[in-house]
Amino acid sequence: MKYTSTRDQNVSLTGAQAILQGLSKDGGLLVPEKFPRLHSADIEILRKMTYPQRAATIMELFLPEFSRDTLYAMTKQAYSADRWDNGNAAPLCKLDDTTYTLELWHGPTSAFKDIALQMLPRLTAAALEKTGERSDIVILVATSGDTGKAALEGFADVPRTKIMVFYPENGVSDIQKLQMATQSGDNVNVIAVKGNFDDAQTGVKRIFGNAAFAENLLSRDLKLSSANSINWGRLLPQIVYYFSSYLDLVSSGEIEMLDHIDYCVPTGNFGNILAGYYARKMGLPIGRFICAANKNDVLDEFIKTGHYNAKREFYATSSPSMDILISSNLERLLYDLSGQNAIEISGYMSSLRENGKFTVSNEILDHISDLFVSGSASDDETASTIRAVFNEKRYLMDTHTAVALKVLQDIRKAERIPAKTVIVSTASPYKFGSSVLNALGIESNGDGFNEIAKLEAYTNTNAPEQLKNLRGKNIRFKDAVSKDDMQNAVVNWLA
Ligand SMILES: *Cc1c(COP(=O)(O)O)cnc(C)c1O
Repeated sequence: MKYTSTRDQNVSLTGAQAILQGLSKDGGLLVPEKFPRLHSADIEILRKMTYPQRAATIMELFLPEFSRDTLYAMTKQAYSADRWDNGNAAPLCKLDDTTYTLELWHGPTSAFKDIALQMLPRLTAAALEKTGERSDIVILVATSGDTGKAALEGFADVPRTKIMVFYPENGVSDIQKLQMATQSGDNVNVIAVKGNFDDAQTGVKRIFGNAAFAENLLSRDLKLSSANSINWGRLLPQIVYYFSSYLDLVSSGEIEMLDHIDYCVPTGNFGNILAGYYARKMGLPIGRFICAANKNDVLDEFIKTGHYNAKREFYATSSPSMDILISSNLERLLYDLSGQNAIEISGYMSSLRENGKFTVSNEILDHISDLFVSGSASDDETASTIRAVFNEKRYLMDTHTAVALKVLQDIRKAERIPAKTVIVSTASPYKFGSSVLNALGIESNGDGFNEIAKLEAYTNTNAPEQLKNLRGKNIRFKDAVSKDDMQNAVVNWLA
């Protein structure tokens, strides 16, 4: 199995190389040259397996140079019952006869990023061995909240890796800040940036783009890499929960094997929904995908019209992990739908870089219309959805999941018979306590712990232990730097 670039078909890398490299040198994203196809008998075999076994079996198809046993050793650890608070990495919950939520946030940091970031560090360590790479890996992350903590937790004390996370000083919630500032591990560092998320992100990109700095690091056997969702090692573990949720619905008698069902995904960088598209391409019977956006509705407009326009106002919403105008993984979808036409994709991406927009061909738009529908929800609509679901069903959801449910409800209004649909639920409501409290009509004054206590009392649900336990933890990281001092911070830390 070889990997190539969405912008240059001459690129050919192994899976291990693709994972270590993260991004192609031409700026494109790394993708498998061909997708394995599973037949119904193969899917039936997966059905009888545990989540870690399903994960190892699917990942081996894409990483044949890693043996099934090696991968299984990793997935057994990453998805072990003691790491996921109800013993299962991807449990389903039935809301009504046609609607299910797939709760991907029972892991160590209470956001769905754990599914991928519990695996990526293990894949990175194995890839270092496999490729005979001499340098150790230095991961730099700019985060708006969820990715930073999930990456820290995944990479903490992983041999031959170091990780440094930058977050906007006033741009993350109380709980998110504490989660990062109390992180354990000898190879981790966390620094606040005096600015917003874009400042942090631009600062990290500038460090990545500094060739002299990279050379200096290399002379000390260090190589920079990233842990965000452009890395194939982050996308691959996400394909698994589409198969797994489908098979769990078969096993519990909710659907028959080979029935088609829909997936509704709260979307930001397009990684989650793209993993579902890949699962479908491999043979999983998925009908269509519902792409849900918040007020930053660049993807909704794109799916409806074929015009991608990032030149628009940016809104800070109650679903901050979806506050994105440049949705990086869309490039991988377009590459696939163009018939793997790297020249066409390079054209779209240079137009995006130079003009902030591009328009896809009619062929691509037709494919998109066959497979995807979309919608967007405002903060008010999100809040009323949280309140209504809680009052009617005593089911508590976070703001991102509520965006998805609202969009699904809107789309169903125009249809007579609702298709069975899985809503991919991406965060614990306790991670966004103040928005969820407000949605329920409760005032949220006080700190993050106060919010947790109020939410527990009002909803009679339990917050994840790892969030409550933050209270007693030692704050290890207090530094803040200006955006121009980020590189110095890296230098000082590595010294
Ligand atoms: C990252 C994230 C998303 C968006 O996922 P993408 O893969 O970027 O589309 C949605 N919800 C939450 C809670 C997230 O952390």
